[in-house]
Amino acid sequence: MLKGKTALVTGSTSGIGLGIARSLAAQGASILLNGFGDSEAAIAEVKAAGAAHGIAVDYHGADMSKPAEIEAMMTFGAERFGRIDIVVNNAGIQHVAAVEDFPPEKWDAILAINLSSAFHTTRLALPAMRAANWGRIINIASVHGLVASAQKSAYVAAKHGLVGLTKVTALETATTGITCNAICPGWVLTPLVQKQVEAKAAASGISIEAATEQLLGEKEPSMRFTTPEELGALAVFFCSEAAANVRGAAWNMDGGWAAQ
Ligand code: NAD
Repeated sequence: MLKGKTALVTGSTSGIGLGIARSLAAQGASILLNGFGDSEAAIAEVKAAGAAHGIAVDYHGADMSKPAEIEAMMTFGAERFGRIDIVVNNAGIQHVAAVEDFPPEKWDAILAINLSSAFHTTRLALPAMRAANWGRIINIASVHGLVASAQKSAYVAAKHGLVGLTKVTALETATTGITCNAICPGWVLTPLVQKQVEAKAAASGISIEAATEQLLGEKEPSMRFTTPEELGALAVFFCSEAAANVRGAAWNMDGGWAAQ
């Protein structure tokens, strides 16, 4: 379905980004990976997912908190693949603390990585998408783009901002073949959430299993994690022609979290 298209997935060496990259590759898209850590393992996984289609996979290690590095990655992507047709803005970090204890440098980092990076990739990708009159921009926000939780001021502010950026981008491209939508996951068991489970277990002196139960019980009525594969399938749908007039949506896949 996506043969001949190229997708950039930021923060795709791990978790949700890697899952979405695999799903897009399985539909025939060539992939530009990004993120820290083990890029070789991610490249191998995504190549394997797209093997039937003979896709190309490459990697750029841009730090998504640095606009100059984002620009370098977008230039690299255009030169390497001809054009970036699909941008999945996924790179993100978390820090948990009350507003009055929140380290200002963590606030700045979360806003830069979880929000501003999407502004930069979007502004840099749009000219080529407009020239082709086709494009898909998918912002991985969060249920925290729709509702708040205590201790997560920077994250909630950034994700609400990302949902706002999604709507504006959708309006500005509304008469074109470019769409922009947000995906708002609830809990997904990735390294980002594993750290929060471990912190909960340590703080309350309980087991990891009990902390997991508590974490889900507080917020997620389905009492289970959403998987990167489920989120990948939703990203594939947004890339499809069936979704050509889905514009500015903030689609939660959260086990009922935001319905409460
Ligand atoms: P993760 O920690 O598994 O992956 C984060 C990815 O971002 C990694 O590839 C990491 O290397 C990359 N990254 C971090 N800082 C970066 C930087 N400065 N430059 C480039 N890459 C950087 O986390 P995840 O849970 O897969 O999260 C992915 C996205 O999904 C995030 O935006 C997160 O906010 C969002 N999300 C996660 C959950 C969840 O429950 N896990 C829920 C809702 C939304």
